[in-house]
Amino acid sequence: MNNSHTEVAIIGGGIVGCAIAYYVSKASIDCTLIEKGDLVSGTSSRCDGNVTIVDKDPGFDSQMSLVSQELILELYKELDLPFEYRALGSILVCDNEEEMDAAKKWVETQSKAGLKFHVLNPIDIRQESPYFADDIPGGLVCETDSLINPYLFCYSLVDKAKQFGLKLRTHSEVTAITKNEDFTIETTNGTIVAKKVVNAAGVWAPFIGKMLDIHIPIIPRKGHILVGARQKPIMMRNVMEFGYLMNKFGRERKVDERTKGHGVALVLEPTESQNFLLGSSRQFVGYDGSVDINVVETMAKRALRFFPKIDDFKMIRTYTGFRPWTEDHLPIISSVEKVRGFYIAAGHEGDGISLATVTGKLVEELVREKEETIIPLEPLRYDRFAHTPVT
Ligand SMILES: Cc1cc2nc3c(=O)[nH]c(=O)nc-3n(C[C@H](O)[C@H](O)[C@H](O)COP(=O)(O)OP(=O)(O)OC[C@H]3O[C@@H](n4cnc5c(N)ncnc54)[C@H](O)[C@@H]3O)c2cc1C
Repeated sequence: MNNSHTEVAIIGGGIVGCAIAYYVSKASIDCTLIEKGDLVSGTSSRCDGNVTIVDKDPGFDSQMSLVSQELILELYKELDLPFEYRALGSILVCDNEEEMDAAKKWVETQSKAGLKFHVLNPIDIRQESPYFADDIPGGLVCETDSLINPYLFCYSLVDKAKQFGLKLRTHSEVTAITKNEDFTIETTNGTIVAKKVVNAAGVWAPFIGKMLDIHIPIIPRKGHILVGARQKPIMMRNVMEFGYLMNKFGRERKVDERTKGHGVALVLEPTESQNFLLGSSRQFVGYDGSVDINVVETMAKRALRFFPKIDDFKMIRTYTGFRPWTEDHLPIISSVEKVRGFYIAAGHEGDGISLATVTGKLVEELVREKEETIIPLEPLRYDRFAHTPVT
């Protein structure tokens, strides 16, 4: 059994915890990252790797993502272990003319905010991939979007953080936390005493909160992914359908009942090695991570609407992950007034890969109690959910 003292304990070794560990260690703060399983064994290894603005609400959401993209570019230059970073932009495709009109408005709004968005016509779409359907009316592109391998990115962050002095405790499940002057964190692998604690446990953040009688309104939103075998090069950059935005933000969409019921919208991410990840679904079904073949079928069918020419492509496997959902689609990155020294960095829903770096930097500034922060704290405060009933 290990017992130790640390200045900052971070609970959760997903992409958010790893990014925090990196920035806090880099600031020469004594820091310990605690993970119940292996590193990156939660949602951050059961997702896509899109670092996008294309699917963010114009305004604070987009601006926060832009800062994160700039930080990832810095890390691409700074970290030692490569993480399959590709800054090629990403595209959205439309199903019909009505969506095309909405897409044009989306481009207008995002461009006015200074973001690099352009409309794509049907010929542009054909040039993106020879496998696209002939009747796609067009779409849009966001030039600054990029792709990473989230799993490798986490290992790369931790590798560098260890060089700055990070202590890593894997296979150490936090089972209880008490607070006197310091926090005493009981784990299945010893006790850790910390001056400050960061809860970066993703969809499990509410359980950590409960240990200190703090209600955290984060709910798991399940997603399925189908993995395609490497065969013929399918395309180079990530593509989503416009309806993905509707699903994510819970807006009305004209699709069949099954597609709507399973929250399915096309996402196709080409990996660096030209396997491809097909998604995705959105469902509130608690913490049941089993694969539902009905959902997988709906996803495959939806993919064929946009890519009918890949119907003979081989698929290798399928998996699920849980997006940490909050009611207003923004994460909680915040101190908690009731328990001084306790911070929450969770609730990134389908944006945790995109927003991990800005989250890491922000938490580093929070624990150092800096007056000026890289982005405004207000929209991310925990107490915006003060009205949310405990369930
Ligand atoms: C299908 C799918 C596709 C997605 N695609 C994208 C995408 O393309 N782009 C994007 O930006 N986002 C995407 N997301 C969202 C993104 O994956 C998540 O927002 C992100 O991974 C959350 O990271 P996290 O570090 O908060 O949580 P996690 O990765 O789940 O990390 C939390 C960690 O805490 C640990 N933990 C829990 N309880 C304890 C305990 N008691 N003690 C110690 N450790 C504990 C867990 O084991 C886990 O490793 C997708 C999600 C899904 C499901």
